[in-house]
Amino acid sequence: MEDIYTQGVDALRSGDPREAIRRLEPLTRHPHAPGEAHYHLALALRLHGDLRGAIATMRRAVARLPGSAAPQTQLGALLQLAGDGDGAVACYRTAVAVDPGHGVSWYHLAIALVQTGERAEGEASLHRALALGLPLLLDERAKAQLAELRWPGENKPPTLCSAPMYTELLDPPGATSPARRREEAVGEPRIVALTGAGISAGSGLATRKELWQRYPRDEAVSIWKFHENPAMLWGVVSDFLGSGGQEANEAHRALARLPGLRGIITQNVDGLHQRAHREVHGEEAPYPIVEFHGTLGRTMCHGCGQGTGKSSQQQLGGALPPRCEACGGVVRPDVVLFGEPVGPPVQRAALELVRSCEVLLVVGCAMDVAPASELPRVARGHGARVIEFKRTPSRLGRTLDTLLWPGSAVSSLPELERALTRG
Ligand SMILES: [Zn+2]
Repeated sequence: MEDIYTQGVDALRSGDPREAIRRLEPLTRHPHAPGEAHYHLALALRLHGDLRGAIATMRRAVARLPGSAAPQTQLGALLQLAGDGDGAVACYRTAVAVDPGHGVSWYHLAIALVQTGERAEGEASLHRALALGLPLLLDERAKAQLAELRWPGENKPPTLCSAPMYTELLDPPGATSPARRREEAVGEPRIVALTGAGISAGSGLATRKELWQRYPRDEAVSIWKFHENPAMLWGVVSDFLGSGGQEANEAHRALARLPGLRGIITQNVDGLHQRAHREVHGEEAPYPIVEFHGTLGRTMCHGCGQGTGKSSQQQLGGALPPRCEACGGVVRPDVVLFGEPVGPPVQRAALELVRSCEVLLVVGCAMDVAPASELPRVARGHGARVIEFKRTPSRLGRTLDTLLWPGSAVSSLPELERALTRG
């Protein structure tokens, strides 16, 4: 029993909720199953999109672990997702009462309070969470949120308020050692780019802002809604891809030619950075292109996790939603939906890049989706210069010392390339 529990938790930590559910579910049917098994099963169900199942299971965990803050807080987060804000705050308050040293619970309480307009108490709770210590990315987010709360003239609460995912609560290892950074820092500066929808707008792809004008964001692309109604997500994908054939633009190509570029972290799911590099150099990029939110270039079964070997565009030609040939489950694009965690290996790869660069180019990012929004802070914390390429500055500049290169990416990135090539 112990072994199966450990295997289930390991699967959850590695970002595989299906395997975690497969291990933990039979275990929790045992009358003497430990409360922790219920707790971790509930987290796995949440990550897999089964909100109702997650709430029922987390209630069982809370009943079995009355002196523990984490199950209370996670029950609160689930209730918040289900629209029960008062129930959520009650859970967070219980959590900090049973364990006043649990920083993550104070963080959740703080954000819920700010969202309901109780700013003073929210701010105090945020201070408390930071003083107690938070996992790396959450710590960065909390600092940014605190700075935003103090932003002059800002009356509405920051929208950067999402409940952290389980995998964000784990500190991803893999920091680059300072010695290695110094050794490699000879010659041209080590540049890393973090890109968002703004860079692909020049290829005719809708930005997220445009998409969310057409679809209610949480309805269309959350894991919970996908669980209930998978056809809706496929409708958004169809609208986004249109008739297909989107080409890389001058911004992608300038980045592919940029001297000193050591890696790209993209929030886009269109595969255009890879395409641009092949166009410019006739081969795959020699540096990592981290697809932080996955890619539409692959599809997989939501039920069994098996890849289909087809892209989303290829699936659009058949019946929607497509079905898995192996198990009959629903097929989905291999992208990270709202409510899903960014896989630990992907987080690690991105952190490795931002921790080891000297210049971080933030291109066409709204910087309002966590945990990607925390990456520039990590880079800055490790001494990198952060330059934002955007028509109008994002919220990033409010909380971080950044440089702004105004304009659209299709003109500003070629300007940067010319400057560096002359240089
Ligand atoms: Zn399947």
